[in-house]
Amino acid sequence: MNTNLTEIQEVWKKALPIISKSVSQIFYDVFIASLEPISISDNKLILIAPYESCKKSINKSYKPIIEKAVMQFNPYIEGIQIITTSDVDSFVDAPKSIIAEETTALEEEKTTVSKDYYTQFEESYSFDNFVIGGSNKAAFVAAKTVAENPGIQHNPLFIYGGVGLGKTHIMHAIGNYIKSNSKKKKIIYMTSENFTNDYIDSIKNNNSNDMNRQFRNKYRNLDVLMIDDIQFISGKPSTQEALFHLFNELYQAKKQIVFTSDCHPKKIDNIDQRLTSRFQSGLTVDISSPDLETRIAILRKKAYNKKFEVSNQVLNYIAECINTNIRELEGALSKVIYYCNLNGVKADNLDVVNNALKDDIDNISGPITMNFIVKCVSDYFNIDQKDLIGKKKTKNIAEARQIAIYLISDLISVPLVSIGDFMGGRDHSTIIHARDKISDLISTDLKYSNYIKDLTEIIKKK
Ligand code: ADP
Ligand code: MG
Repeated sequence: MNTNLTEIQEVWKKALPIISKSVSQIFYDVFIASLEPISISDNKLILIAPYESCKKSINKSYKPIIEKAVMQFNPYIEGIQIITTSDVDSFVDAPKSIIAEETTALEEEKTTVSKDYYTQFEESYSFDNFVIGGSNKAAFVAAKTVAENPGIQHNPLFIYGGVGLGKTHIMHAIGNYIKSNSKKKKIIYMTSENFTNDYIDSIKNNNSNDMNRQFRNKYRNLDVLMIDDIQFISGKPSTQEALFHLFNELYQAKKQIVFTSDCHPKKIDNIDQRLTSRFQSGLTVDISSPDLETRIAILRKKAYNKKFEVSNQVLNYIAECINTNIRELEGALSKVIYYCNLNGVKADNLDVVNNALKDDIDNISGPITMNFIVKCVSDYFNIDQKDLIGKKKTKNIAEARQIAIYLISDLISVPLVSIGDFMGGRDHSTIIHARDKISDLISTDLKYSNYIKDLTEIIKKK
């Protein structure tokens, strides 16, 4: 009997919808859809399963159903035989031409695959260099767990959040960690665009619309697959289909999968619902915008890594001004350092920041900042801003300073230490004293309660 590969695939394609009616959706998605017909031998259709347990599960319960379905479409087929890729070499009964074709392809893949697994991870994107705060703690802990024991817990891990908040950093940290602890692990990090391109190339090169052998073998042999910015798979049904099958294979084989996205899986448009549900079947965690304290800690770490001395007051000020995302925060720090190097000055006063970040600061219209409160208080009492946060102890200046401290602690949530740093490097006990003193005065002295009422109104108009 002379049956070529295209005819065999045709038979299989026709049989699939019939099989799908007789098995559960999940069994179909996970096992049946991963089978690939390769030849007919001894009147049996030979199907390759991606791994041993898949072969066993099908043989155990569903072989007769599959046999019945395929027999309808080719009179020469009397049964099926399921093998795995490792059986191909010893599979001597199959028509030589087809098996030869397949095995040569497999050999070629074996040599090309290995270099595909060497994703270069950005060394500085490590867990050690990741500053933990309330906004990213859940993602950090989950990522660390995954890196320590890939495929055991949290599979898939789905991390989502806005731009510049550390998603890519975390993925590289997982990669760096796994690589340094176990050199043998096959691990790929890629953007979803790269994944799409890879898939499209594989179709072009093989003239087939099916998820072809080379593509599948490259990915299904992985220990860890990480796809960054998966939201870009939106509106690409064939890539989604390929990812869906790959996901099932890796998941069944307990291989770790990590995705990031700029939004929750449910919010990704134009995507197959089966994928949306797969994305959410493990752990879904978000990264949100860091609070002031975390932003300050990140800046401190970045300044330290750059070996550039930046005063606490300056770090506080930059962190206050730039509250969009961490990438911009880093950019602002770089600008300040560049400005200081260019002008041969130290990063130890607010003028330096104001000059270096002139364009950035002018455009800020966000939440109330310490800097804004100090500006309002100094305008209100007609006192120079520098004096307000400086050392002068003149009564009116000292009093305005205490009022500013009270308003900061009342209107925005900032740690006392950060207020102290911002107000000219004062101790946190000084901050507590100022805050409590004004708080007492408000309830006993109308003059003070009016100051606070006026100023609060002015500040809140921002
Ligand atoms: P995303 O992928 O979410 O857009 P990135 O991972 O590219 O964001 O992060 C942008 C920049 O911010 C990177 O340089 C990264 O190192 C830094 N970054 C983000 N989060 C943190 C953090 N928690 N600690 C230290 N650096 C961070
Ligand atoms: Mg990113």
